[in-house]
Amino acid sequence: MHNVSDMRAALLRWYDEQGRTLPWRVRPEDRAAGVVPDPYAIWLSEVMSQQTTLAHATPYWRAFLEAFPSVVDLADANRDVVLSMWAGLGYYARARNLHKCAGVVRDDHLGIFPTDEKTLLTLPGIGPYTAATIAAICADEATNIVDGNVERVISRTYAFETPLPKGRKALRDLSGTLVRADRPGDYGQALMDLGATICSPKNPTCLLCPWREFCVAHSQSEETKYPVKVKKKPTPIRYGHAYVLRCEDKVLVERRPDSGLLGGMIGVPTTDWGDAPTDHSQAPLHRNWESKGQIRHVFTHFELRLDVFAAEIEASVEGVWVDDTSGLPTVFTKVVEAGLAD
Ligand code: SF4
Repeated sequence: MHNVSDMRAALLRWYDEQGRTLPWRVRPEDRAAGVVPDPYAIWLSEVMSQQTTLAHATPYWRAFLEAFPSVVDLADANRDVVLSMWAGLGYYARARNLHKCAGVVRDDHLGIFPTDEKTLLTLPGIGPYTAATIAAICADEATNIVDGNVERVISRTYAFETPLPKGRKALRDLSGTLVRADRPGDYGQALMDLGATICSPKNPTCLLCPWREFCVAHSQSEETKYPVKVKKKPTPIRYGHAYVLRCEDKVLVERRPDSGLLGGMIGVPTTDWGDAPTDHSQAPLHRNWESKGQIRHVFTHFELRLDVFAAEIEASVEGVWVDDTSGLPTVFTKVVEAGLAD
């Protein structure tokens, strides 16, 4: 049922005809014409598009390449500028690592972005998936690219029964049995495309799938049973207060400490975030705080509920005042909007 050569041939044929055209992607016909992928641009696209949609990530990718055309430009940039350009993409540790990684490439690799998997894995913020992807796309290294999309496709094709995350390593090994030295970059991108467009989580369009005849889950009409996952515990909730000190449309902001969630980002003061609703004991100074309701924001591992309080202060108070929240992480944009609402 699983003839690897036939599966690869079917997938690559499908990719040649119907794979996605993405701004950073070198399509097979362009590659044949001599276009070479830029590892810096591929790296940016991979880091930015994790955990978000391509439509959301693409404007950021364009803006970064315009502001920092090379990895050395990014390394030389002020980190605060990089962080504020990242605002809205979430997962801010990634932005800090992005800047750090650019510095390492500048200082330890003569400003030339590495393209082999082993070296890529030594760089800050580059994990197995990103290293495998860059190496396959940019250096035609026969790496095993596995992301959530690939896990879904492979687990369905083989009706892989071990629940994730326990079965992740074995599923990865299974995926590796399909890797060959022939067109590894196109193969990896094809597999990711298949998962992103056809083999979708809830409604796979198996009729259009190049692996339909190989797919065990499809033959059993059990496509959505896979990947089997251990039942998730409900998302924990954390609570806190957020304080908006405002003067007309301007808000006083501060830089958060480097460590922890949203480390190094600009925000408004908050209390610590705890497992139970909090009180005012950590409020900055004593003011006439006006309650502005609650905002909710979902992070990867928890949901945050912040009770927002606002107070009018004099514009002469020293600090950083902003009237444009576009440089703030999304959670603080929500807080400021609530704090400024009448
Ligand atoms: S046949 Fe359906 S379930 Fe199987 S890999 Fe293709 S789209 Fe996914």
